[in-house]
Amino acid sequence: MQSLPKKYNFSEIERKWQQKWEEMGIYHFDWNDTKRVPFTIDTPPPYPSGEFHMGNILNWTYFDIVARYKRMRGYNVLFPQGWDCHGLSIEIQVEKEHKIRKRDVPPDQFRKWCEQLIEKYIAIMKDAILKLGCSIDWTTEYRTMDPDYWRRTQLSFILLYKKGYMYQGTHPVNWCPRCETAIADAEVDYEEKAGTLHYIRFPLENSSEHLLIATTRPEFIPACVAVEVNPADERFNKYVGKKIVVPVVNRTVKVIPDEAVDPSFGTGVVMICTYGDKEDVKTVIKHKLPVIRLLTENGRINENGGKYAGLTISQARKAIVEDLAAAGLLEKTEKLEQEIGVCDRCKTHVEILEVKQWFMKTRALTEQVEKTANEVLWYPDFMKTRLIDWARSLDWDWVISRQRVFATPIPVWYCKNCGELILAEKEWVPIDPKLENPRIDKCPKCGSRGFIPERDVFDTWMDSSITCAVHAGWPDRRDWRRLFPADVHPSGIDIIRTWAYYLMVRHLALFGETPYKSCLINGMVLGSDGRKMSKSLKNYVASPEVLGKYGSDATRQWAAGGGATGSDIPFRWPDVEYGRRFLVKLWNVSAFVNKLLKDYAPSETAEFALQPLDKWVLSKAEKLTQKVTEAIENCQFNIAVEEIRNFTWHTLCDCYVEAVKDRLYRPETHGEAKKVAAQHTLYEVLYRVLRLLSPITPHLTEEIYQTMYADSKGFKSLQVAPWPEFNEAFVDEEAEQRGDLIITLIGEIRREKAEKHLPLNTPVKKLTVFVADKITEEVVKSGSGDITGAHKVINLEIVPPREREYTGGKKVLQHGREIPQFPDARFAAEYDEGMKK
Ligand SMILES: [Zn+2]
Ligand SMILES: [Zn+2]
Repeated sequence: MQSLPKKYNFSEIERKWQQKWEEMGIYHFDWNDTKRVPFTIDTPPPYPSGEFHMGNILNWTYFDIVARYKRMRGYNVLFPQGWDCHGLSIEIQVEKEHKIRKRDVPPDQFRKWCEQLIEKYIAIMKDAILKLGCSIDWTTEYRTMDPDYWRRTQLSFILLYKKGYMYQGTHPVNWCPRCETAIADAEVDYEEKAGTLHYIRFPLENSSEHLLIATTRPEFIPACVAVEVNPADERFNKYVGKKIVVPVVNRTVKVIPDEAVDPSFGTGVVMICTYGDKEDVKTVIKHKLPVIRLLTENGRINENGGKYAGLTISQARKAIVEDLAAAGLLEKTEKLEQEIGVCDRCKTHVEILEVKQWFMKTRALTEQVEKTANEVLWYPDFMKTRLIDWARSLDWDWVISRQRVFATPIPVWYCKNCGELILAEKEWVPIDPKLENPRIDKCPKCGSRGFIPERDVFDTWMDSSITCAVHAGWPDRRDWRRLFPADVHPSGIDIIRTWAYYLMVRHLALFGETPYKSCLINGMVLGSDGRKMSKSLKNYVASPEVLGKYGSDATRQWAAGGGATGSDIPFRWPDVEYGRRFLVKLWNVSAFVNKLLKDYAPSETAEFALQPLDKWVLSKAEKLTQKVTEAIENCQFNIAVEEIRNFTWHTLCDCYVEAVKDRLYRPETHGEAKKVAAQHTLYEVLYRVLRLLSPITPHLTEEIYQTMYADSKGFKSLQVAPWPEFNEAFVDEEAEQRGDLIITLIGEIRREKAEKHLPLNTPVKKLTVFVADKITEEVVKSGSGDITGAHKVINLEIVPPREREYTGGKKVLQHGREIPQFPDARFAAEYDEGMKK
């Protein structure tokens, strides 16, 4: 057995093992192994953002614990890592850095800039993942911007098109005027903003009367197509069917009836514009109203806006309000707080535009999504309702096309002559229709030889929502179904509606099967003030700072132990510090044990003269194994880490080690056999702790294992040592009760010494233990070696049970309560006061 250095140098140890594990190939998934059961993790490919933040740390720690645990359980673990490159934010970032808009430069140039930025960002994030010690098989690394990944995205589109899931349609979609692209419901955030409610008079045609309309968006007046009232509203129903003048553009529209109008809301009269909001979309469809498109794709008023054409939305609002006031049609204005939809990438107010887009028929799958979500295991269970509620809440199909540059192209052309749609063949992909013609001579319909490429590209979620199949080797490996569905899909609570949902609909449509068997949800990381961590709130902590200061093992303890899985977890420095202190404690006790085991030869077969406290701690270690195994199986990492820390710190270090020191130091008094029994117990219990802890704090446990255990246990790494199997036969309730009494007695004497301000090594001249019954007497006798050893007791007297209750001495209590099995053990100690401080 080698020696552990005195001081624990985390950065050196962590760097060393991260490198060695890589060299050993510990994380390598063996594609050809047919013996071990595979276990697949659907690692989310993150957007390269240049920052691996504390939320990512939380996320990756969760599934790295699962990966390491499953490896120890003998699974062939597939832990891949990809990068979801085509996020909108990369385009925005490049536009900012180069001070251009995406259409100002050739697409090739723009793409190159995006790729360069992505590589820079990936390098930073990969470094953080490595420093966190994630057991990723880097031979699986992929980027969704690579042609080989395009191939998969495009192939999945071709298959779904042929199955009837993909269609083109001119429908209203969410539109970001800054990013100039359609966006999905899932990409719309909602923000509270101060707005102004304008009360505007709409004159009735050929009448001196008017109706009052309250609106926060007067700039949409030129796109007004109807005015609505509730037919049951006696104030207004007489106007139904009449014509009303739209101010500033001087057109007339009809007053129409609709029961959906709430007479008590606003003025009870509603202006319908195309499109002020989603409600307008519903009304237009319901009443078959015409559509006046008012906005250009970059958010300006178009020719339908008359004199306001060319203005931005806010300029138009100002001009129209001024004109209304000048015409005497603005009755009043009021301030109000309103919730508005904004682009989740750039925070621009989202508009609704009717444009031709590609859609996936996702709403047709809602029932199947619900059924499948109920069959999947969720950690925690109640999270499944988030997916189901989201699927049910969707008004529109998923708009999968985007008007962007840096994304996977849609592999489609149109005939220049007759407009026939030409879909790429499976063998053609990857392909960019803007650079290549379809591989056919002429249009199959009209024979024309000219083609127009589809200029739209895919939503980035079209790339990332096939990961479960891609990780398994689809479409290239014939045996990909062996690794599909994924065993676990980890997801943040905030991306259930995107990641978990899109994965589900894509795979259900493609393969008729759930993409994942279980879903592991992590909450958000909050600042130490309990609010969402954010740079603007000044409660932000960057992960390199944490990893640099405390290392991976301490940080991972924070992530695992910070709270229940799925709940939001605050980042607190003291939690990481506590993790660090625990590691130092574990290091110190290991170094101590290491020293005391110099003459110990580990043996699997030898018989040991186990003492009550040896049996006590061995039984408790067995129960710990059961609790930790159950907790990790159920993804309750906080319970696992708490159980191990409590056991190590209190049961092992404070109680057991303290109680048996004397046996190890002075075998001449206790006998060699009892010393070896303590050595054996320490050796095995520490090994147990190291294994249970290794998925959570892999580096330190590996270092201790390699120094103290590798020679005798024989595994090349603790990471591939078998997980300890809980064995009920090794639980000894009686031994635990007996040990509890001995440990408590030792602890009570220690407490009394502290109360008397005596050093803990003060000898006890005489210790009298009064026992109420025969069993208690026997227990104290059997533990007398450790009791006298722990407290340097010179003279121990055990006073046997009497007829009448003994009234003297101090009661032996545990955590302030009597030990129920031993109702009347009392003690009185005479200390060697000469040593008083
Ligand atoms: Zn935007
Ligand atoms: Zn044609």
